Amino acid sequence: MTSPEGNLVGIDLGTTMSVVAHVDSSGRATTLTNREGDPLTPSVVYLDGNEAIVGKSAKAAAAHHPDKVASLFKRSMGAVLHGRMVDGRSLRPETLSAIVLRKLRNDAERRIGPISKAVITVPAFFDDARRRATEIAGRIAGLDVLEIVNEPTAAGLAYCLQDRFASPGAASRFLGPGQSFTGLVYDLGGGTFDVTVVRLSDRGFETVATDGEVQLGGKDWDDVIVDYIARQFREQYKIDPRTDASWRDAIGGLAESTKMLLSQLSSAPLETSYNNHVVKTMLTRKTFEESSRDLLTRTRFVTRLVASEQAKLGWEQIDKVLLVGGSTRMPMVRQMLADATGKEPDDSLDPDQVVAHGAALYATLLGAQAGIKELPLDDDVRRRLCHVEVVDVNSHSLGVAVTDRRTGQKLNHIMIPKNSPLPVAASKVFVLPKAGQKQVRISVLEGEAPEAAANITVGDCLVRDLPDDLPASSPIQVRLSFGCNGRVNVMALDMSSGKLVQTDLEQKRTLTDAEIQQEAEFVDGLKIH
Ligand code: AMP
Repeated sequence: MTSPEGNLVGIDLGTTMSVVAHVDSSGRATTLTNREGDPLTPSVVYLDGNEAIVGKSAKAAAAHHPDKVASLFKRSMGAVLHGRMVDGRSLRPETLSAIVLRKLRNDAERRIGPISKAVITVPAFFDDARRRATEIAGRIAGLDVLEIVNEPTAAGLAYCLQDRFASPGAASRFLGPGQSFTGLVYDLGGGTFDVTVVRLSDRGFETVATDGEVQLGGKDWDDVIVDYIARQFREQYKIDPRTDASWRDAIGGLAESTKMLLSQLSSAPLETSYNNHVVKTMLTRKTFEESSRDLLTRTRFVTRLVASEQAKLGWEQIDKVLLVGGSTRMPMVRQMLADATGKEPDDSLDPDQVVAHGAALYATLLGAQAGIKELPLDDDVRRRLCHVEVVDVNSHSLGVAVTDRRTGQKLNHIMIPKNSPLPVAASKVFVLPKAGQKQVRISVLEGEAPEAAANITVGDCLVRDLPDDLPASSPIQVRLSFGCNGRVNVMALDMSSGKLVQTDLEQKRTLTDAEIQQEAEFVDGLKIH
C-alpha cells in the first residue's frame, strides 16, 4: 500500500555502508534491499562522465581506478570539498552523499513505490555543520528530510520499539508494564564511534547521555593491518609501500577482508606483492588485537565516561549493553565490554541494520503524530505510535565567545551544557559597547573547552538593524536554542523596546539555495546505477 504523500523511509547514511528501511503495516521495520539484492550498500561512488555507480561495484573498482572512486566522504561532511578529486572533479561531500541517497531511493522505490520523506541518521557526535550538510545532502537527492536523528538514538528506538509495535499487546523485548529499561548503546561503525545511554519508560523514549569520536571506526582497525603488511615489506625488503598512495588504495580491501576473517578465525593468511616483492605471512588474531589495543582502549574510556560520569549510572543500573555497527563483530569488542561492564553484550538485532530500522520507526512515528492519515498502518499500531514521546540530548555544549575584561582573553561562555534534553533554549543579556551602534556580532560556539578558540565555531550571530540612537550599555537579549534534531537557532530581543531584532546566523560553509539547486541539477543529470 502506498501513501499518496509518498512512502516514509529511514536511512542510515553510513561512512562505509548505507541502509534504507521502512515500516510495514504491522509496525515492523524491514530493510529494503538494493537492486543487487543486498541489504547493505557500500557508501562508495564511481564516477565516469555522467554515469555513476554506487555500492559494491564502485568499491571493487577502487583498486583499479582509484581516481574515479570516492569513499569515506562522510568523514569530510561539514567541510567545503571532499579531500580528493573524483574523475577530475572536485566535489562536495554533500553531493557525493546525495548520489548515494539517490541510489538508495531509486532502488527502494522499485520495491515500495514513490518515496518522498525520510529520516536520516547521523553520529550523535556530529556538530551543527555536519548535521546541516547531511540535511542538505537529502535535499540535493530530492528528499524531504523529516528529521535528522542520532544513530544510537535510532538504534535504541529499534531495540525498544521493534517488538512492541510489531505484535499488538506485547511488551517490548525488555519492557514489562510499569517498568523502565536502561540500555547502553555501543556503536562502532566504519568511521565513527558513539556511546549513548537510553531509557525507555511508560512516558516514552529518552536519551540520557551521549559522547564519542568522529574519527574512530573500523577503518582505523583496517589501517592497523595495512601498517602490519607495510612492516613486513620494510623488514624483508627495506621498502615502505605506504609512501605510494595507489598502494594504499589497493590494499584497503585486503586489510578489511583479513580483519573480518579474524572475527571468526584465530589466524588469517596474508599474501600480497609490491614492485615484484612478495609478502606471504599469517596474521594471528592475538597480534591483531595487541596492535589495535590503543584503539579499543579509546572506546573503553568513552564508554566509562558516558555511563559513570555523564549518565551517573553504575553498571548494575544498566539493563543491557546493546551492540550497533559492523565493527562490534570483532571479538575483542565484546570481550572488552563484558570485562568492563560485567554484562554479556546483546546483538539480537543485526548491528548493520538496526540504525536504519530505528530511523524507519522514527519516520513512521513522526508521520503518525503529524496525522498523515494515508500511512499504511494498522489502527492499533498508529494509536500506539502516537503515544511515544522521543527526547534526545545535545552532544556538544552551546555557548558564545565573551571577552574577559581583566585579561582580554576570548572565553567560551557555555549557555546550554551538553546532554541537555532537547529541545532546549537559553538566553544571555549582552550590553551595547557603544551608543548608536546598529549591529552586534556574537560568535556562537559548540564545545566544552574554556578557551573560545579551542571550540568549533557554529557561526557568527549578527544582530542587525537595531533601533537608531540606542545609548551605550543598552541590553540585548540573545537566545540560543537546539531543536529536536540537534540543529542550532538564534534569536535576539532589544530589551529597551521589547522588540525582536533581525538576527542572522552566518555560517561560512553552508550552501545557498541556489548552490543546492545547482548540485541537485548535477545529480539529476547523472545516470546512477
Ligand atoms: P557500519 O558503518 O555499521 O556498516 O560498519 C561498517 C564497518 O564494520 C566496516 O569497517 C567493516 O569493515 C566492519 N565490519 C563488518 N563486518 C565485520 C566483521 N565481521 N568483523 C570486523 N569488522 C566488520
